[in-house]
Amino acid sequence: MELVFATNNSHKLNELRAIVGNSFTIISLKELGCNDDIPETGATLTENALLKAQYVFDKFQCNCFADDTGLEIEALNGRPGIYSARYAGEDCSFENNISKLLLELQDVENRKASFVTVFALIFNKDYFFFEGRVDGEIMKKGKGKNGFGYDPIFKPLGYHNTFAEMDEAEKNSISHRAIATQKLNVFLQKCPILK
Ligand code: IMP
Repeated sequence: MELVFATNNSHKLNELRAIVGNSFTIISLKELGCNDDIPETGATLTENALLKAQYVFDKFQCNCFADDTGLEIEALNGRPGIYSARYAGEDCSFENNISKLLLELQDVENRKASFVTVFALIFNKDYFFFEGRVDGEIMKKGKGKNGFGYDPIFKPLGYHNTFAEMDEAEKNSISHRAIATQKLNVFLQKCPILK
């Protein structure tokens, strides 16, 4: 059975395919023949994930899902959240985003933060949502070279290393995206359509 993942991010596609296994063939937007830049104009991660899935469903009438991820910082009332990718402005780099955040948090004691991923799935015309969350704290300065995005300044609760100091396997075993992906997979493996 085929299921469209509304992304062209090869890292996300590989991760998803590895976890879901053979029971579903995961199709990317490109493989579907969709080259549109799908607007992400929602006010929450859930709305944005749903907007992307709904766009694909409306255009192609197929089972599909989409994701959205953000870093939510308690002292900043949940920012950058849905603005995580372009927090320092259009065309900014990961380093620009990190610098902006560290400046904002310069004299702030409360360093609590969470990475959150939401998947929105449209399956047999029904809607399902899966959330993955990792709580942690924002470091005073970046540490580590692995990963991407805010990884150098995010240390998950109960760990000594930032995400960027972990190897890929360790991060992927505890990450927000991995948790949400596992929840989606549990649902898919139980789908009555497979029985
Ligand atoms: P997306 O929704 O997965 O594209 O993520 C939006 C933005 O959140 C990315 O551009 C990154 O800045 C940040 N982000 C998402 N996932 C991670 C992660 O695992 N580590 C660090 N930053 C991330």
